[in-house]
Amino acid sequence: MDFSSKLLENAVYEMSQLPGIGKRTALRLVLHLLKQPEDQTSRLALALENLRKEIKFCENCHNISDVALCEICSNPRRDKSMVCVVEDIRDVMAIENTSQYKGLYHVLGGKISPMEGVGPQDLTIASLVKKVKLGEIKELIFALSSTMEGDTTNFYIYKQLEGVPVKTSTIARGIAVGDELEYADEVTLGRSILNRIPFENSLKAN
Ligand SMILES: [Zn+2]
Repeated sequence: MDFSSKLLENAVYEMSQLPGIGKRTALRLVLHLLKQPEDQTSRLALALENLRKEIKFCENCHNISDVALCEICSNPRRDKSMVCVVEDIRDVMAIENTSQYKGLYHVLGGKISPMEGVGPQDLTIASLVKKVKLGEIKELIFALSSTMEGDTTNFYIYKQLEGVPVKTSTIARGIAVGDELEYADEVTLGRSILNRIPFENSLKAN
């Protein structure tokens, strides 16, 4: 792409670093911003800057939060004996939308993936294991997508907790293999949490 302006080229380049945004789309977005009032761009830039500067991760569940302890963890009506293990905030949002789950979450920040160079130490697994060993958590519900990486991660955590008195279960696989949680409809996802099965059973099925 030949640009008549270095300023335009830089803006397009930065925009095209986002996932799913090619150079053409980036150019369209930048030209769109140029047509809008200047403060529209300022608000966008400021929102992104504030997000990066001020975002916090809940010290208990590692979910993205504006405060040290997120709204879910600090809610006295949530069942603290139950923890649902998910990959990221999108899964928390999807499960919250079902209104079927009243326990807490633990956000791993990804899945174990040797192909992508993600090991257990890159995730919040150690913090989860430590939390479970404190003894207040009675049930751990694995709700990672049923991909090979998801299964590997579940199994790794399960092995780390060998001998620890905690019930482990996995959401019912009404969700087709490989589907991401965020794309499951609310009714299906809600049901799969209610109809969860002991984790051991899911191992035998494979
Ligand atoms: Zn939290």
